[in-house]
Amino acid sequence: MKPSLIVHGGAWDIPDEAVAACNESCGNALAAGWRVLASGGSAIEAVEAAIIVLEDDPVFDAGFGSHLNADGKIECDAIVMDGASLRAGAAAGLQRLKNPIRLARKILEECPHMMLIADGAERFAKDHGLALCKPEELVSEAEWEAYLRCSKDEHAAEHHRGHEQGTVGAVALDSNGRLFAATSTGGTCCKLPGRVGDSPLIGCGCYADSEAGGASCTGYGEAIMKIVMAKTAVDFLRRPPLSGENELAFANRAAQDAVGLLAARGKGTGGLILLDRSGTPAFAFNTPRMAYGYVNPDSTFVTAV
Ligand code: ASP
Repeated sequence: MKPSLIVHGGAWDIPDEAVAACNESCGNALAAGWRVLASGGSAIEAVEAAIIVLEDDPVFDAGFGSHLNADGKIECDAIVMDGASLRAGAAAGLQRLKNPIRLARKILEECPHMMLIADGAERFAKDHGLALCKPEELVSEAEWEAYLRCSKDEHAAEHHRGHEQGTVGAVALDSNGRLFAATSTGGTCCKLPGRVGDSPLIGCGCYADSEAGGASCTGYGEAIMKIVMAKTAVDFLRRPPLSGENELAFANRAAQDAVGLLAARGKGTGGLILLDRSGTPAFAFNTPRMAYGYVNPDSTFVTAV
């Protein structure tokens, strides 16, 4: 089977100044994931490698450089889902994990449960060999400044230089036909402490079913949750194609219809990436911009914002 990989770095009002950094980072994430897939590695390895690159880059709202909540603290959420078993590993409210996706994978592979939160999740991480960092180590200068501006005034997009969101995600299909989807986020800026959005919720921010496809979402979490967007998009991949519709047009229609539903019924904005079960990549968003990248059938990379 021909492997395939798609990544995103969030859908929002990405300012012009951040475009080059978003493109570069999505390219680096593709390179990290593709290195795994091209050498016959597994899709879970590939999504983890891609997401670690994006979490480590403070231009995105995940891992280091996540948004701060109303108390000035970072609370990260992450999920990875296996399209074969339909099992997920998810964690929410993390304050001491540099790479929350590593914990999501540990939960998927080594935990009898599918989702852990806060202290319990961090204890599981430690007990399973993941190092905990100090909460301050996740705070970037830009996000700390944005938080200070929001707390002196009131929360506003301008305080974040227009770069309000930037959840990251990846979907990969490997040469053995294994399909995994993953999402990692710091959530929304100035959120109430304890708030969990769509990202780590199975079916909302992420879904994978090898019989149909996999998706990772980004955008206004409270709206994405209303329409269970990742599962909705994957279910749209189960529809019959229109007459004469090729695989690319079919996959794009599934992505666009899911985002259409987000606007119509969720009354929200956001975007998603997906792979159909044979690896056809597609994306859609109704925000001004979304950062994304995928690998062409000839193994060249496309990145765009
Ligand atoms: N969906 C994320 C959340 O609501 C934010 C984002 O996608 O940037 O937590």
